[in-house]
Amino acid sequence: MTTIVDNLQAVHARIVAACATAGRDPASVHLLAVSKTFGHEMVLQAIHGGQRMFGENYIQEGVEKIRRVRGGLAPNVPGPVQWHCIGPVQSNKTRLVAENFDWVQSVDRLKIAQRLSEQRPQGMAPLQVCLQVNIDGGATKAGVAPEEALALAMEVARLPRLQLRGLMSIPEPAIDFVACCALHQRAKVLFDHINEAGGLAQAMDTLSMGMTADLEAAIHAGSTMVRVGTAIFGSR
Ligand SMILES: *Cc1c(COP(=O)(O)O)cnc(C)c1O
Repeated sequence: MTTIVDNLQAVHARIVAACATAGRDPASVHLLAVSKTFGHEMVLQAIHGGQRMFGENYIQEGVEKIRRVRGGLAPNVPGPVQWHCIGPVQSNKTRLVAENFDWVQSVDRLKIAQRLSEQRPQGMAPLQVCLQVNIDGGATKAGVAPEEALALAMEVARLPRLQLRGLMSIPEPAIDFVACCALHQRAKVLFDHINEAGGLAQAMDTLSMGMTADLEAAIHAGSTMVRVGTAIFGSR
């Protein structure tokens, strides 16, 4: 039986191979383990296997898991465990996000960003933020429209308790590798465009894209963070 630790090694091998093909340094791509719907015991196994960054979609579930993992963590685990909120954030959930997560990658409007900044406790580091971009214009999908992303980035970057780190995208599945790369490439072009526009005091350093099915294409297009659930924890 393969274990979570074996799966993590296999995903790292995929990242290394994709970086080799793309002529990139594997250290330039971070792995976010998406633990939504899986219990805290599985997160603890992944931590035992060296994983430190975890993504959760459902805020209530995530907060509960963060507490349980903290309680179950062996005292000798090196380095902090980092939690990323990657699911939709409604106004009535911003406080839970601000008080419990290290990152939120799914900010797509100013009102939510303002609430997160106001509610981020003073004793905590600034909340690290990615803007979710609706890169392929899917009508039902969350995310700021690409043509509005620069303006939103400039406003979010000015909020005192947030630190703007980059963009996140979840394109629809594409028919083949080339089409998938082309979709991810659009996010990369937008990412570079926002950085080169020169309006940000600090350039963004995170382009979060690529999941179990398409991480190779995302890395080829310039992803700096792949978000992988199924290949690590199994199917949901
Ligand atoms: C579920 C989810 C993932 C992980 O997807 P897998 O296909 O299981 O790797 C990544 N990003 C987001 C935003 C998700 O909701």
